[in-house]
Amino acid sequence: MKHPTDAPHSIYGVEKWGKGLIEVTEGGEIGLRNPRAPEAPAISLPGILRDLEERGIRSPMILRVASYLENEIRHINESFGAAIARTGYKGAYRGVFPIKVNQQAQVIDRIVEYGMPYHHGLEAGSKPELVIALAHRLSRESLIVCNGIKDAEFIRLATLSRKLGFNTVIVLESPKEAETVIQVYKELGIEPILGVRVKLTNQISGKWEESSGDRSAFGMNTDQLVSVIDQLRAAGLIQCLKLQHSHLGSQVPDVNDVRRAVGEACRYFTELTKEGVPLTHLDLGGGMGVDYTGEKKATENSINYSVEEYCANVVETVAYAMDEAEVAHPTLVTESGRAVVATSSMLVFNVLESTLYDAPDAPQVEPDDHHMVSDLAAVEGYLSPARLQECWNDATFYRNELRALFRRGYVDLRQMARAERIYLRLMARIKALVASSDEVSDVDDQLEKLADIYHCNFSLFQSLPDVWAIDQLHPIVPLQMLDHAPDRRAVLSDITCDSDGKIDRFILADGTSPSLPVHTLPEDEEYYMGVFFVGAYQETLGDLHNLFGDTNVVTIDLKPDGGFELLHEQEGDTISEVMAYVEFDPQDCVAAFRKMVDEAIASGSLKANDRKTLMSAYRDSINGYTYYE
Ligand SMILES: *Cc1c(COP(=O)(O)O)cnc(C)c1O
Repeated sequence: MKHPTDAPHSIYGVEKWGKGLIEVTEGGEIGLRNPRAPEAPAISLPGILRDLEERGIRSPMILRVASYLENEIRHINESFGAAIARTGYKGAYRGVFPIKVNQQAQVIDRIVEYGMPYHHGLEAGSKPELVIALAHRLSRESLIVCNGIKDAEFIRLATLSRKLGFNTVIVLESPKEAETVIQVYKELGIEPILGVRVKLTNQISGKWEESSGDRSAFGMNTDQLVSVIDQLRAAGLIQCLKLQHSHLGSQVPDVNDVRRAVGEACRYFTELTKEGVPLTHLDLGGGMGVDYTGEKKATENSINYSVEEYCANVVETVAYAMDEAEVAHPTLVTESGRAVVATSSMLVFNVLESTLYDAPDAPQVEPDDHHMVSDLAAVEGYLSPARLQECWNDATFYRNELRALFRRGYVDLRQMARAERIYLRLMARIKALVASSDEVSDVDDQLEKLADIYHCNFSLFQSLPDVWAIDQLHPIVPLQMLDHAPDRRAVLSDITCDSDGKIDRFILADGTSPSLPVHTLPEDEEYYMGVFFVGAYQETLGDLHNLFGDTNVVTIDLKPDGGFELLHEQEGDTISEVMAYVEFDPQDCVAAFRKMVDEAIASGSLKANDRKTLMSAYRDSINGYTYYE
C-alpha cells in the first residue's frame, strides 16, 4: 500500500537495513556514510562508479569499503570492552577472525592491521589457512586458533610456530587428534598450546538448526572429552590444555540461544577446571549474525540483537557461571566472521536489457482476424477497478485459446503477434489500475507473474552462491533515480544460461516480495543495481558456471572530507584465466583456431585478408573480461 507522503524510495526500506552506513542521498542515489565522520554527507555510490569507470574499472564489480571493515572490528572489540568494564569482568576479550569467511589477501591483511590495537587474531580451519595466518605479523598477545581436522603436518607447523612467538592454539577435535598431538610432541619436544572442542547439546534455531547440537559434525561429546583429558594427563601434557572451544553455528537469529549455549559451555569449563585442567580461555566460536532484512527479529535472515547486546549477554552469562562455580574469569574468545566482513562488500552490476510483460499500445484488429482477437481487444472497453479480476480472466482465456489455435495452424504468426500485443497492452492497463489504487487488489498475486525480467551483468553462481544455494536474502536496490517513484516491477536474471540464475525474492520496507520495484531503463545511461552485505562467504564459495569468472574487486576507503580513496584494484578473471582452470591451454586454442582459419584460406572459402580480423577477434576475446563489456 502506498503512503502519499512517503519519499518514492521508502519502499526499499534502506533506512531499516542500511545500518546508518547506506542511505539515499538528496539527489536520489544510494550513498555511503563514513562511520569515522558521521557529520559528513553520504558519498554517492553511482558517483564512485562513474569515477572508477573513468579509470577503466568496469562493473560487475565487488566494491570493498575498508572503512566498514575497520568499523566492525572496532565495534565488536569496543563492545566487548564496554561489557567487560560494566560487568566488572576480570578477564580480557581476544577476538579471532575465521579465515574461511573471506580468505582474500586484501581482507585478511586489513583485518590484521585494524585488529592490531585490539590483539585481534586469526582462526584457521585448514592447513592452507594456517599457512596464511603464519604469514602475518600479529600482535604478541593475539591468538591463532586452529580448528578442523588436523594431520601430523598441520600439528607440527602449529607447534613449531610457537618458536616465532605465535600463540597458536591446536584445538583437539577428537581422541585420535590427541594421539597425533602426543606423537608430534614426542618428536619435536616442544609443548603445544592446546584446546578442546566441546560439542554442545543445545540446538540453535535458524538456517543451520539441523547441524547444531548432537548432530554437529564437530567437537567431542562428554565421553570423548574425558578420554582426551586422560590421554593428555598420561602423556604429561595436561598443563598445555588452555582453551575450551565450541562453535554455536552461523547467523544465530535469537540472542537467547546464544545465552543458553554459552551457559552450557560454561558448565563444561567449570567441570574441566574442577578436574584440574588449567583452562584460561573460553572460545565461543562464531555465530554473531547480520541483520540482512533490517527486521530486528529472530528470523532466518535477521537477528533480534545488536552487537552490544550479544557482547553483554556473553560477558554476563560467563561472569555469572564462573562466580557461581568459584572459577576465575577466563579470557573470552569469539570467532565472529560474518558479522565482521559482511557489511564491507557490495556487488554492483549494470542492467543490460529488460523483457517486459506489458506493452504501451496495441495494434488494430484486422478484418480477417479470428473473432477471439476482437473479443480480446474488447476487454479494454469494460476494464474498471471493480472488474479487474473478470477482465484478467477474460483476457487470459482469449489469449490462451488463440495460442491453442496458433499451435493447430488456424491462426498465423502475424495474427498471433497482434493478439499477444493486445494482451500485453491490457496487462499494462491492469497494472496501472492496481498501482494507482490504495486497496489491496484481488489480482495482486497474479500480477507477480507479469513482473518484468531485468537481465543483469553478473553471475549468481559466481557472486551470490548463497542466494542460489540456501535462499540467503541480501538487500538489493537500484542505485539511482530513487527520487522518482519506481514505475515497474521486475525479477532479476543473471547472465548465465541457467534458469536457476535468477533472483525473485527481495527485501522491501514492509517484508519480502517476489519482485523488485524498478524504473523503466533510462536510454542514455547505465542503470546500476547494488547487492549489499556480500562480504561473508560469497567470494570463495562462488563457482565458474558458464565460465563466468571472478569479477573486478575494488577496495576503497572513505575520506573524512566526503571523498574516497582507491586503495586497491584486483582485475577480474580473463577468459584465458578461466579456461586454464578447466585445463584448456589458451595458446593451444589459439593455435587450433588459427589452423582452421588457414585451412579455410587454403580451400578458398575464406579470403587471405580475413585472417587478421578473425584472429584478432579470437585473441581479443581470450584476453578479455568474462562478463558483458
Ligand atoms: C565458520 C566458522 C566460524 C565463523 O562463523 P560466523 O557465523 O561467520 O561468525 C567460526 N568458527 C568456526 C569454527 C567456524 O567453522
